[in-house]
Amino acid sequence: MPDTRATPRPPSIDWLASFPGIREHEPLAPQSWYGIGGRARYFLELSDPAPLPELVARLNTDSLPYLVIGAATNILFAAAEQPGLTIKLSSATLSMNGNAVSVAAGTLMPRLAAETAKAGMAGLEFGAGVPGSVGGSIVGNAGAFGGEVKDRLVSAEVIDEAGQSHTVPAAECAFGYRESIFKRARQHWIILAATFRTTPEPGLAVRARLLDVQKHRRATQPIEQRSLGSTFKNPPGDSAGRLIDAAGLKGMRIGGAQISPKHANFIVNLGGATADDVLALMAEMRDRVFERFGIELEPEVRIIGQAPRG
Ligand SMILES: Cc1cc2nc3c(=O)[nH]c(=O)nc-3n(C[C@H](O)[C@H](O)[C@H](O)COP(=O)(O)OP(=O)(O)OC[C@H]3O[C@@H](n4cnc5c(N)ncnc54)[C@H](O)[C@@H]3O)c2cc1C
Repeated sequence: MPDTRATPRPPSIDWLASFPGIREHEPLAPQSWYGIGGRARYFLELSDPAPLPELVARLNTDSLPYLVIGAATNILFAAAEQPGLTIKLSSATLSMNGNAVSVAAGTLMPRLAAETAKAGMAGLEFGAGVPGSVGGSIVGNAGAFGGEVKDRLVSAEVIDEAGQSHTVPAAECAFGYRESIFKRARQHWIILAATFRTTPEPGLAVRARLLDVQKHRRATQPIEQRSLGSTFKNPPGDSAGRLIDAAGLKGMRIGGAQISPKHANFIVNLGGATADDVLALMAEMRDRVFERFGIELEPEVRIIGQAPRG
């Protein structure tokens, strides 16, 4: 990998380099659930989103790209150097008001599931199966074991590219299977917080369902290994894991990456896997499944730093 620390900085972005908390040439592997990544040219972790509106407005004025991440459980950092500013949102407040629960975008879904279950608020148990943040989970309409973000979201607090605040009701999020407006038309908007609706129910019953989600996950997914969860979306009426398994690919290894012997739609990092190893396995999975079944698999993971395959 080239030494990106030698990259010169244009004088016009001196302000960014001296912004409080900014780190330069930050390795992204430790930030990613996968343990894979190059470096971020500029990196900022924010546990309080207060500086964001002004910061984003300025980045836009100066035409500097930015990428917001949560827990990076759904991102493959494929670039040697991620340009512009990578912002990790780790704001994690949570408050309950009647049947509603309001959370900052950096709150992790398992915490949201656990705290609402403890309070006898049903409907978010599926979050125990999604290791990412609320922000990332709204973007991808995360779901597990029959529940999805779209079923329980009331609204999201966001800022647009100019740093202006908006409240986006769930009905305007254009949710679909692992899809939302924040993946497409509003991909540069940043989710700061969200409110979810729950249903009152005895805490013991809610907690029992949450434990079921955790048990089922442990039994069916290689959660003790580094992965990004499901690599491909399920095609209509079928399961990507079943197709990959039927194509004889379970256990296949390239470099440090392996198609999990436990769940064929998971690619695990056995240690030292590179983004190229993962991308080569993904290409193999798509090609073999297409040859055998004529079905084109669509990635569920977000690959950043490489043009999507046509
Ligand atoms: C072991 C394992 C199991 C998994 N199981 C499931 C599952 O059952 N169901 C499921 O749906 N997913 C699953 N996933 C995938 C992942 O956890 C979800 O997609 C999760 O919602 C991603 O959240 P994140 O915070 O990690 O997002 P990131 O990976 O950090 O980001 C994902 C996308 O959202 C954007 N983003 C993140 N935060 C914000 C924000 N605040 N504002 C605007 N954009 C933002 C990013 O730019 C990126 O495009 C699994 C992953 C793993 C590792």
